[in-house]
Amino acid sequence: MSIASNLAIIEEQLTAACARSGRDRSDVQLIAVSKTKPDNLVEEAIAAGHLDFGENKVQELIRRKSTFAEPVRWHLIGHLQKNKIRKALPCCTLVHTIDSMELAERVDRISGELGIRTRALVQVNISDDPAKFGFSADDLERSLENLLQLDAIEISGLMTIPAFDPEPENTRIHFRHLRELQNRLEKAGGKPLPQLSMGMSHDFPVAIEEGATLVRVGTAIFGKRD
Ligand SMILES: *Cc1c(COP(=O)(O)O)cnc(C)c1O
Repeated sequence: MSIASNLAIIEEQLTAACARSGRDRSDVQLIAVSKTKPDNLVEEAIAAGHLDFGENKVQELIRRKSTFAEPVRWHLIGHLQKNKIRKALPCCTLVHTIDSMELAERVDRISGELGIRTRALVQVNISDDPAKFGFSADDLERSLENLLQLDAIEISGLMTIPAFDPEPENTRIHFRHLRELQNRLEKAGGKPLPQLSMGMSHDFPVAIEEGATLVRVGTAIFGKRD
């Protein structure tokens, strides 16, 4: 299967999930997760008209950013280590992984020093998985005021990676909980948080039914990783 035909299949599934849930196709953005895959496959996706890609490692994101000219965009979807913030920020169109207040404050400070405004999502450990990074829902509700005060970091929504379950229907409840948290935070903070980054290759249709605006799809586009 070619990358172009994989993208076409996913496009059909995206469109169908939007139709089922009464949503506009334009409300959902596909992020092609290219981690560990060679540049020629990224080139194929670009040739098929795709522009938004995700990487989980800062070093690799920076390398790809310098390899592929704009308008190709790079999303950071993995943990951002403190010592890599300064190099990473200018390369990211969106940082999906603000996973602690300490990281938020550092990203804010460094963005200020760089004279940029960083678009970011707050990562929430919605299924309380001990192996995952992210705010607990309670911590985030407590930290919201402080987060929204930072002015060089623009928080535009939430991201989650629920504990893996082979049956996508079992993950629906976690996606729903993230959307409910979004609603509570918007009321409490008086500020829209429109983006929800949730759903991967095996469960993105369910995530869309539950309100995802960004889906992060790797395997279904580029094939299995080693
Ligand atoms: C690897 C990865 C994905 C893509 O996973 P697939 O199952 O290959 O679609 C999505 N989100 C994050 C955070 C990832 O690290």
